[in-house]
Amino acid sequence: MVTKKPIPRKKQNFKSNKPSGNNSQNRPGYKKPTPRVEKQAEVIDKTIYYRNSLTVGELAEQLHRSASEVIKKLMFMRIMASQTQAVDRETAELLAMEYGFEIKDEVITDMTKYDELQIEDDPKDLVERPPIVTIMGHVDHGKTTLLDTIRHSRVVQSEAGGITQHIGAYQVIRNNKAITFIDTPGHAAFTEMRARGAKVTDIVVLVVAADDGVMPQTREAIDHAKASKCSIIVAVNKMDKVGANPERVKQELADLELLPDDWGGETPFCYISALKNTGVDELLDTIQLVSEMLELKANPKRNALGTVIEAKLDKGKGPVATILVNNGTLKIGDTFVVGNTFGKIRAMNDDLGRTIQKAKPGAAVEINGLNDVPQAGDPLMVFDDEKLTRDIAQKRQDRQFKEDHSARKTVTLEEFFQKADGNIKELRLIIKADTQGSIEAFKGSIEKLNIEGTVINIIRTGVGAITDTDVSLAEASNAIIIGFDVQAPANVRDTASQKGVEIRDYRVIYEAMNDIEAAAKGLLEPVFEKQVIGEAQVRDVFPISKIGTVAGCMVISGSIKRDASVKLMRNGKVIYEGKIASLKRFKDDVKEVKQGYDCGIMIENYNDVKIDDVIEASVLKEVE
Ligand code: GDP
Repeated sequence: MVTKKPIPRKKQNFKSNKPSGNNSQNRPGYKKPTPRVEKQAEVIDKTIYYRNSLTVGELAEQLHRSASEVIKKLMFMRIMASQTQAVDRETAELLAMEYGFEIKDEVITDMTKYDELQIEDDPKDLVERPPIVTIMGHVDHGKTTLLDTIRHSRVVQSEAGGITQHIGAYQVIRNNKAITFIDTPGHAAFTEMRARGAKVTDIVVLVVAADDGVMPQTREAIDHAKASKCSIIVAVNKMDKVGANPERVKQELADLELLPDDWGGETPFCYISALKNTGVDELLDTIQLVSEMLELKANPKRNALGTVIEAKLDKGKGPVATILVNNGTLKIGDTFVVGNTFGKIRAMNDDLGRTIQKAKPGAAVEINGLNDVPQAGDPLMVFDDEKLTRDIAQKRQDRQFKEDHSARKTVTLEEFFQKADGNIKELRLIIKADTQGSIEAFKGSIEKLNIEGTVINIIRTGVGAITDTDVSLAEASNAIIIGFDVQAPANVRDTASQKGVEIRDYRVIYEAMNDIEAAAKGLLEPVFEKQVIGEAQVRDVFPISKIGTVAGCMVISGSIKRDASVKLMRNGKVIYEGKIASLKRFKDDVKEVKQGYDCGIMIENYNDVKIDDVIEASVLKEVE
């Protein structure tokens, strides 16, 4: 057991007392100085502050050890990782234990994580807000029909002329109170938002066709609704059909712990025909009843907090997004941060295409005035300070960039053999082949292969295509997938590349054996290829004496990265090829600028940039 002392964290001081550079102690002739007694007594904080995407290098720093020592320690734990790879919490905990450290989760004080900050409302400002309802259920059970029926019945009554727009959500008024419906049926959108940490829905209306009963997606919908703690109302649909059997539906749902209210249970059941518009009013009444019990409240006086329901790049309007206002009032002119971007509300309209000035809690509005297209599920927050919104968005982009680049990557064949450090290493393989014969033959050859210091472990074999399950296993066990004459569908390859899992395809066994041997001897050289990552158009030029010419640009596709190579194009011709000397947003140096943002670019050793020139950026990428 580690004894913990309440010692303040002194990372900065500690660092300055140590020789800098990773391997200064490994220099030939370096003699370890005898530690002085006072040095020994120096206090270090024996705590690791864990956060997602913490890399081996950063962890080593917190442990006050060299990265190479920590990498070695990990190898003893049978984990192959490089300095820039991320460690999961479990591994970090094991390492902490090894070194007698305590582990804590990093406390968020970072404003860019504003969505995790809680701002309390004064209870006297709270007023009732409309419920947010999502309709879920099995395919073909009538979700879209129900959404259309509800919307249609309202439009007929409204005076707005009935021109509805799909913005991803709409409101109906019943008994003088509003209900907001998210009008993307099905649970794909719901699940995606949940995966991104957004809880938007208060009530799930579970549609079950009376002639079909509980089906697989019905069960999935129940699981999602329960996991996100939404109230569930069951709408038994298609009651007009000859084969309708609501009793069976009730029984099936009772078995899934949704006991109907007419059987004395707690789940409200409504019996409807979405097609014939019967029972729909009762369903709306039930929604309002449940909503009253939930006592949904919000504070219209505060700055708005919202969630993106949908977002797109509109040809005429630029980036637009539908925002569900969760709390506060969203107004024209408000400056806000949303996801990794920011903006100022220039215009808002509702689902009837009406221009509006203010959106109250529970309302869904399409906004424009965004600098970039956010993602569904992104939180929106209004700030009084416009500059702050820019800063937060830029910091969030930088963080995203860092996270993308430190994403967990499993081992590759080249990397595996690169570090010859005398320890026994285990190369894990997953073998997929077109026939069992090929698998056996490959296993036979592998057994004969003798690579010093390496154990080759085949963790799974199988006949048939490479699947997502193989990729998950490879990721979890740091393995490489080898395929002999088998397919890996594009989506599987995409997942593999996202997770950093290497898939190697071969037609014949000896080629695979050759590669493994070559890699072992360090002969397998990676091949690189230039890939265009983005374009920026020059909108203005600023000659700065003694420094050069800064091109004021707008990134018109992809992104521009600080370390990219560039081609300067004029009227479709290449005028100059070189490197970026500096990349700035406002006054700050940045690593990357994405589409839709402006930036200042200086090209190394080139100053003759003209308005309307296009700067094409490319990076070297490894090819298989
Ligand atoms: P979703 O996949 O759940 O969105 O289902 P849809 O709303 O697209 O409906 C699937 C089919 O069922 C369509 O042909 C609808 O016309 C039909 N349908 C939906 N509701 C009812 C209903 O209440 N009664 C009858 N008879 N048919 C319905």
